Amino acid sequence: MIVKNKEGAEDNQHDCCTPQPKGKVECPECGKKAKGILEKTVQHLLTNKAKSNIALYDGFYYCKSSTCRVIYFRGDVILTQEDLSVKVGLKDGTTPANLCYCFGWTKEKIKDEILKNGKSGAIDDIKHKMATVGCSCEIKNPSGNCCMGDVSKYIKGNFI
Ligand SMILES: [Zn+2]
Repeated sequence: MIVKNKEGAEDNQHDCCTPQPKGKVECPECGKKAKGILEKTVQHLLTNKAKSNIALYDGFYYCKSSTCRVIYFRGDVILTQEDLSVKVGLKDGTTPANLCYCFGWTKEKIKDEILKNGKSGAIDDIKHKMATVGCSCEIKNPSGNCCMGDVSKYIKGNFI
């Protein structure tokens, strides 16, 4: 008889790729489409003060528009930078402008490196660490996703 171990099966999915909630909803402030965000992402990143006003962390959406102050929203509830314990680098004017929350790559660090060396080792460093140390984007990155897309977009958009 084969007894499948449910918990073991779930353990195999701990890397970057837990399916994100499906469906998109318009941000109440900027009107851009925002994607659903995992409950555990919100739970890990909110400040204690913000948490004290929210009983449940599921059903939130993430607005990635760089000019919009909204980070998460759910119905009438809007969460902005002051409600999060990390600086959301994708939003304009944030310092430090975090892009990779697992291994500490910021826009500032990438820019310094490119000005100094003509190129950035960010992508290689992140790839290497993902393969060795492992990443925790789901709970560290406000987007709940791997940061590689954001990092390469920043490099390509500004320096190439
Ligand atoms: Zn927005």
